Amino acid sequence: MFRDQLLDRRQKLETAAATPGRANEVTRLLREVDAALGRMNAGVFGLCATCHDPIEPERLLADPLTQFCLDHLTPNEQRALEQDLELASRIQRELLPKPDVRFDGWEIAQHYQPAGPVSGDYYDLIPGNAGQVYFLIGDVAGKGVAAAMLMSHLSAMLRTLVTVGLPVGQLMERVSRVFCESTLPAQYATLVCGCASSSGEIEVCNAGHPPPLLICGDEIARLDATGLPIGMFCSERFSSQIVRLAPGEMLLLYTDGLIEAQNAAGVEYGIERLSALAASANRQPKAIVDACLHDLAGFRGATGLADDLTILAVRRL
Ligand SMILES: [Zn+2]
Repeated sequence: MFRDQLLDRRQKLETAAATPGRANEVTRLLREVDAALGRMNAGVFGLCATCHDPIEPERLLADPLTQFCLDHLTPNEQRALEQDLELASRIQRELLPKPDVRFDGWEIAQHYQPAGPVSGDYYDLIPGNAGQVYFLIGDVAGKGVAAAMLMSHLSAMLRTLVTVGLPVGQLMERVSRVFCESTLPAQYATLVCGCASSSGEIEVCNAGHPPPLLICGDEIARLDATGLPIGMFCSERFSSQIVRLAPGEMLLLYTDGLIEAQNAAGVEYGIERLSALAASANRQPKAIVDACLHDLAGFRGATGLADDLTILAVRRL
């Protein structure tokens, strides 16, 4: 795959070399391509020239001329990468719904916290055509820039597909198929999609995501996954279920960055602790999100956030 890509670049460069005034630049790039082909022949292609460990696969895919792993970039490369990440982070934040957005009959609070500059977590709130609100939360496999790029892709797809007004199960089938056909084989995402109408009815589908908690009084019910993550198989089917919320009842959604967070002893925060907290917490969306964050911080102690973290609380008014 890389060899074809390099040979293709070589051919384009030779064509470009004919353009007046570009000979020097083209000669330099040709040398780099030939050096990469040389590394391939020597069996060291894709290994860091400093530490000889494999270079991050997504970076090699983006630039087959890369010669150093992230830990061994030159100061100039490091600066360029930091600027790219800063830009990617700004773009990603722009994709998120505005925090003060209001929907008819529903009150929603959220917390979105990338572990690094960019996140593989996804959430969105999209108004439907008939006064409903679609709420989505997901987690793209992997971390860092590659996961963030897929998150943007997912966001664009869902904002388009929601406008078609399909039932939730069919929406998930479409999004899974498009995701599957437009990404690499190992790329997939867990996703919960809910469509809440002002009557209190929510149609919800869980594709391989940790179960949202349905909080009704002291009762906590889990909405377990009914399907595999999206993008694993192009022809996957998804079923949805209907839940009805009375005024004051709430759905609490989160990514694995919450329940798989570990303390210094290596113990996971876990869904039991989250359920117990949800059963006793104040029933305002913002209050319950804050209570989760506060309890998680207490549990983690000095241990840092290892994964992206997203929490979404959806309460019927
Ligand atoms: Zn290295």
